[in-house]
Amino acid sequence: MAPIQKECDFLVLGGGSGGLACARRASGMYGAKAIVVEVKRLGGTCVNVGCVPKKITWYAAAIQETLHEAKNYGFSVTQDKPFDWKYFSDKRAAYIKRLNGIYEKNLVNDKVEYLHGLAAFVDPHKVKVTLDDNTEVNITAKKILVAVGGYPVVPDVPGAEHGITSDGFFELPEQPKKVAVVGAGYIAVELAGMFNALGTETHLFIRHDKFLRTFDPMVQDKVVEEYERQGIHLHKKSTPKKVTDLGGGKKKVEYSDSNGEGSVDVDCLLWAVGRAPELEKLNLDVTGVKLNEKQHVITDEYQNTNVEHIYSLGDACDRGYELTPVAIAAGRRLADRLFGGIKDAKLVYDNIPSVVFSHPCVGSIGLTEPAAREKYGDENIKIYKSNFTAMYYSMFEQEDKGPTSFKLVCAGKEEKVVGLHILGIGSDEMLQGFGVAVKMGATKKDFDSCVAIHPTSAEELVTMK
Ligand code: FAD
Ligand code: NDP
Repeated sequence: MAPIQKECDFLVLGGGSGGLACARRASGMYGAKAIVVEVKRLGGTCVNVGCVPKKITWYAAAIQETLHEAKNYGFSVTQDKPFDWKYFSDKRAAYIKRLNGIYEKNLVNDKVEYLHGLAAFVDPHKVKVTLDDNTEVNITAKKILVAVGGYPVVPDVPGAEHGITSDGFFELPEQPKKVAVVGAGYIAVELAGMFNALGTETHLFIRHDKFLRTFDPMVQDKVVEEYERQGIHLHKKSTPKKVTDLGGGKKKVEYSDSNGEGSVDVDCLLWAVGRAPELEKLNLDVTGVKLNEKQHVITDEYQNTNVEHIYSLGDACDRGYELTPVAIAAGRRLADRLFGGIKDAKLVYDNIPSVVFSHPCVGSIGLTEPAAREKYGDENIKIYKSNFTAMYYSMFEQEDKGPTSFKLVCAGKEEKVVGLHILGIGSDEMLQGFGVAVKMGATKKDFDSCVAIHPTSAEELVTMK
């Protein structure tokens, strides 16, 4: 059958966070004729194998923790059955499926045409889409957005294929009894924390002494200490050397670490060593779009590539933030600029808040203390710190109490808050409001002028001395 020919104003490659946000605004708000192409499931990484199923699992882990902790308040909770992983994961999958449907309806509402298939460039203005039934659609577009996201990287270790990645985590048919997680970023720390809270013996392999090394040192120190207190087996300065499939679902992971050589037999090995842009099948070469050394699409602050009508955003591009709200915000601004006549619309990539859903969770915005000292000079930096016991733990035995630590990094005479780092229960919800204040350029004095809400942990942030 001859390929179907189509034309449009705006072709969006990738139906994830950034692509959908951009296409919907371009069409729904500004009337552009937009087409979205998605090869897997609508919603992309965030909805299907990222933020959403991750946060639901985090809630499950938090409930398990609360069940353990309830005794401190006089409850006698006995679990007559272990956590039902299959019930939970089936229900989580059903929820995600409903979301996929809602995303499809949203496209219809905003009059965006949706094609399910694999996109590959034919020339700078033309993209071939191979639909599920192998029908080919050739689309000629005035403007094209590359929003193809990324995929989890697997390191070059013999037998690495016996491990899974975060994608596989969401397909695990049963809860592993013993797991090895390799990596030191958001995903490794979040998934290791959840496994451990849910009762899986968890081994976390990190290349250095600490994890979350891009975060403020307070965060690194406290979360590492807390994970060790919680019983996570932290293999510092470790390198996995070889993985062997032992059959029956077991794998042997041989490694070297600060104690020498060792091995551990696990039910599941999970690589969480970073992600790379999903460009392999896109045939981007024919467009002349330039990539950086990590294969991210090079963009300017307006998400322009070096080719005039091709744009990129989200995890595929080189802006340095792999977060859903960043992809969405960049997408909406781009649509405003390209189709809404707002010439200067762009996402300002600074003071972007983010949360690590560790146990306890971490919230962070702005500069770390070392980065602020480097930028402003030691003499211009004032640090406010608070380590305290959240009231929730008042009924706990000393050794069961979790940490709460806050830090404000202030710069200049006016003590502008240029960094805010918090860890402890509730930090995830606490950060958004403080993020607004930091984004507005609040000073320490502004923080102090806001009356505290008592009794909360957040009040510490407006009463620091
Ligand atoms: P994606 O959402 O990845 O969408 C890209 C889409 O393009 C995909 O659906 C893909 O199938 C499609 N595609 C790729 N190639 C082609 C092709 N050739 N043809 C057609 N379609 C194609 N961020 C947060 O802000 N908070 C969190 O809590 C959080 N948790 C996360 C947890 C995990 C485990 C992971 C992996 C990520 C998490 N993230 C989180 C990051 C977040 O998911 C990503 O930053 C976000 O999804 C990026 O959006 P995007 O639009 O750039 O790409
Ligand atoms: P990250 O880039 O955050 O972290 C990966 C880390 O793994 C590296 O920083 C490195 O740390 C370590 N590493 C790299 N290579 C190896 C190796 N060969 N062996 C052992 N360790 C290695 O990647 P993630 O995969 O964790 O997450 C990808 C992105 O997704 C995140 O950056 C984040 O933007 C987003 N995300 C956001 C979440 C949220 O908002 N809550 C949750 C999950 C993901 P080191 O140098 O210290 O060894």
